[in-house]
Amino acid sequence: MKKQIKIFDTTLRDGEQSPGCSMNLHEKLEVAKQLERLKVDVIEAGFAIASKGDFKAIQAIADSVSGCVVAALARTKYEDIDAAWEAVKNAERPRIHIFIATSPIHMKYKLKMTPEQILEATAEMVRYTKNYCDDVEFSAEDATRSKKEFLYRVFETAISAGATVINVPDTVGYATPDEFSRLIQDVRENVSNIEQVELSVHCHNDLGLAVANTLAAAKAGASQLECTINGIGERAGNAALEEIVMAINTRKDFFDLICSVDTTNIHRSSKLVSTLLGISIPPNKAIVGFNAFAHESGIHQHGVLSEKSTYEIMTPESIGLFENKIVLGKHSGRHAFEDRLIKLGHNLEKTEIDQIFIQFKELADKKKVVSDWDIEAIVDNKYLYGSGVYHLERFMINTGNTISSTANIVLSVNNEEIEEAATGDGPMDAAFKAIERIIGTSFKLEDYYVHSVTSGKDAQGEVVVKIRKGNRIVAGRGLSTDVVEAGVRAYVNAVNKILNGKTS
Ligand SMILES: [Zn+2]
Repeated sequence: MKKQIKIFDTTLRDGEQSPGCSMNLHEKLEVAKQLERLKVDVIEAGFAIASKGDFKAIQAIADSVSGCVVAALARTKYEDIDAAWEAVKNAERPRIHIFIATSPIHMKYKLKMTPEQILEATAEMVRYTKNYCDDVEFSAEDATRSKKEFLYRVFETAISAGATVINVPDTVGYATPDEFSRLIQDVRENVSNIEQVELSVHCHNDLGLAVANTLAAAKAGASQLECTINGIGERAGNAALEEIVMAINTRKDFFDLICSVDTTNIHRSSKLVSTLLGISIPPNKAIVGFNAFAHESGIHQHGVLSEKSTYEIMTPESIGLFENKIVLGKHSGRHAFEDRLIKLGHNLEKTEIDQIFIQFKELADKKKVVSDWDIEAIVDNKYLYGSGVYHLERFMINTGNTISSTANIVLSVNNEEIEEAATGDGPMDAAFKAIERIIGTSFKLEDYYVHSVTSGKDAQGEVVVKIRKGNRIVAGRGLSTDVVEAGVRAYVNAVNKILNGKTS
């Protein structure tokens, strides 16, 4: 019998703390629904006290997700715990996750508390949380730089006060695999009643060791692994869910573990998070990078063609990466389209399908054939054009290498059209300036990139722009067979998000 290990996803909490980006309520819900399909055991939905937007997002996720535990984070403070409970209480299986630092450096400089005070706060706050919620996770922040003897005492205190999960975070990404494995074994041997609770780990990737440390801990007896999609998170990020899960699955012989994650949803989860946060995935990224399953050299190609396992230790299908089949064209009807959506794993509402079908028809008019990847892109972008304050009506851009570019943009707001023109350094600069004139405010452009959804001259291009207003940054996306149009749409999308999406 293989041991079951739990996967705790913190994409919506730690992942959302990635520098430079945040998601609105709608986007967070979309990610939560995907995590539900991915069948993770726990979704950490946010840090309730951090902002109204975080609070509302946790509430919405708690209301709508089923099957998995929904956790909210709190410091060891009454008001944090009150807010966490208020946000998460309607969940089918609520959890409150509280944390306090235990390393000498954090206790002295950040908390200004003595070890004795930390122990008191731990007991007091776990007990207080327990009044609300049966399932209480306790984290010793900066555990890997804490004194072991003290760490054991803190954990014992938390367990006797009623904690159901004990988490050992490598908060600053300082540990190495051997050392971390030793720490987990020591905790198991020296903390009384540890076998009665879940033993969790949470690793950061500052030295590129997050996944290695997490797997070492799994081997040493940890029973819950915390991670994020694409490894996003504070600084260099967290341990990547897809790498942990595929390592456990591919090396069952070594780990002797199983987890409940539906790996065929990995590719879609990765793409969704990357698109929503505007964080692109490096092509050589393990499991989910564009090249992860590409065999370039002749020798490898030959090997894979005669016998897949010569160079393939796992199949692209196992992460839900299907072949790019050309399936539909301009004469395909709604029924065939709906059928294809279901085959691709999308269960959408009728109104959503109506909206996507219109975009599919428009695309089929421009491209002769529409592939699965095109359809995926339309589905991922389904919320781009339906909502928001400003709508792109039309644009005209004049550009060349010997003239400065001129853009003429018409946006509509409440059925009223507004037109502005501007010149700039290149077509995008001119277009963005014209949009800013219409809106009457300017933004700082933080990032801009284009990637193609499919190959070929008539490929759909997806543009991501990140704009900043004050200290708020949002990512906007645009999709079109024309990259200039995709860029303009991405900018309008970002502007709409920054103007009306103040939910995070
Ligand atoms: Zn973290």
